[in-house]
Amino acid sequence: MADPTARPELHPAVAARLHVSQGEARVVLTDTRDGQELVIGEREWAALRCADSSRDIDGVRVALQARGRRVSSNDLGGFFAELARLGMLRGPEDEDARPASHAAPIGADEAARPLRGLAGYRFVCRGQGHCCETYGSIIFTPEEELRARSACPDILDGDHSRERLFAPERGIRDLGASCVARVDGGCAYFIRPGGCAVHHAKGLDAKPKGCQFFPLVCADDGENIHLSVRPECACVFDSLTETEAPTLLEGVLGDSSSLPAWVPIYRIPERIAWTSADEISRAEFRQRRDALVSQIDDDVARSLWDTGKMPASGDVRDATAPESGLVALTDTLDGLLGRRGLWDAEGTYVMSTLRRWSEAMKKWVATGDPPPPPIQPAEERFALRALAYGDALIRRGSVSEELCRTALLIWSARIIGRYPADHGSKRDEQPLALSFSLAQASGLWDHYAPTQKSGPRTGAKS
Ligand code: SF4
Repeated sequence: MADPTARPELHPAVAARLHVSQGEARVVLTDTRDGQELVIGEREWAALRCADSSRDIDGVRVALQARGRRVSSNDLGGFFAELARLGMLRGPEDEDARPASHAAPIGADEAARPLRGLAGYRFVCRGQGHCCETYGSIIFTPEEELRARSACPDILDGDHSRERLFAPERGIRDLGASCVARVDGGCAYFIRPGGCAVHHAKGLDAKPKGCQFFPLVCADDGENIHLSVRPECACVFDSLTETEAPTLLEGVLGDSSSLPAWVPIYRIPERIAWTSADEISRAEFRQRRDALVSQIDDDVARSLWDTGKMPASGDVRDATAPESGLVALTDTLDGLLGRRGLWDAEGTYVMSTLRRWSEAMKKWVATGDPPPPPIQPAEERFALRALAYGDALIRRGSVSEELCRTALLIWSARIIGRYPADHGSKRDEQPLALSFSLAQASGLWDHYAPTQKSGPRTGAKS
C-alpha cells in the first residue's frame, strides 16, 4: 500500500474551517466521514495548502519557504505522519469528491411541479444576525467570493490574502465553492453592530445566495415543490403573528418554473428508510408525513418520540425512555463545549448559547423531573410542519431516528424555556430556534451517542 505521507495531500472528505479568535488564527479540520476533528495553526494550514500530491515532504518545505515560512522537514514529517494516523490524508484510490448534496435545480426537461408554501405563513427577516454568528460553513460560489472580496477589501486583507479569508469547501483543491473564515465566532463579513458588510457596500443582491435565501428551504417530494422554513431562527417564530408581510408564495407564479435558477431544491429520493428495517416509497412517505402533521398530538415531542420508537412491524413499543435520550444529549453538549473551547472563545454567540442550553439541561437532570409538558404548543406544531414540508425528516438516517431527534430538541427547548439564563440572555431568545439552530451548527448529532455516561438519574419522578 502506498505511503500517504510520501506525497501528501489532505483527504477530500476533510473540511477545513478558518477561525480567528481574539486575533489568533486557527484551522479546524473535520473529517466529514466520522466527525473526527483536529485543530491546527496557520503554519500547518499553509503547509497543507502546499501539499497537493505533487510534492514530497522536502518539496512542501521548499514551497513554504518561498512563501516566507521556515519549517524543518522533520517537523513537517511529524505533522503529516499524525494526519496519516488519523486517516486524514488522501490515498491513491480517493476521488476528487465534490461535497455530497441532494440539492439540484429543476432540469430543463422536467415537468414543472406545483409550488406550495406554508399556507397563511408570512416570513419577515428582522435582521437580528443570529444566522451570521451561528453557522460554521457559510458557502460562497467563486463569483460571490470575488464580489465580496472586491466590495470589502479590508476584511482580513481579503483582496490580497485570499488564503486567510477563504478555504475550499472540502480538501485543499479549489473545485468551486469555498467557505469564509469566522472572526470571533461570526462570519468574517459580519460587522457588529450593523450587520453584513457586503450588504452595506453593494446591496442585498451582492450577498451569497445562501444568505439571501436563509432560512427558506425548497423540497421536491415528487408531486409538489414545498417552500418551507428551517425553524432555526427567532424570526421564523416571530413571523407567526405577522399579518402584513407578503406570504411565502407572494410573487411566485404557482409552479416550480417560476423559481429563480439558483434556488437549491432538495430532492426527496424514490425510496426512503422509515426505520432501519422498513424502506418505503416516496408516495408512502408523503402519506405518512401528511398524517403525522395532521394527526399530531397536543404534546408534539411525546407524539414524535412514540412514533419514532414504534417498530415497523409490531405493536410493542421500544422501552427506551426519553429521559435517557435527554441525559445523553446533556453529556453531548458538555463534550461539544470542551471541544469547541479549543478554538472558539467564551462569549461568542455559539459558545454562550451552547453554554446556556447546557446549563438548563443540567438543572433539569438534577431535578429528576420527567420531560416537561408543552409551553409553546403552537410554535412546536409549526416547527414540525415546517420540518416535514422542508427536507428535514429525511436528512440523516431513517425518518424514525429523525422523529426522535426532533422530539429531543423540542423537549430541550421546553427545558431552556423553564430555566432563565443565570447571567441574562444576550439576545432575544426563542428556545425552539436556539435548540434547532445549535444542533445544526454544532454538529450535535455527529457526536451524540444514545447511552448516558452520567448513570441512572436518582429520585426520578414517574
Ligand atoms: S456574507 Fe453577510 S449575510 Fe452572509 S453570513 Fe456573512 S455577514 Fe451574514
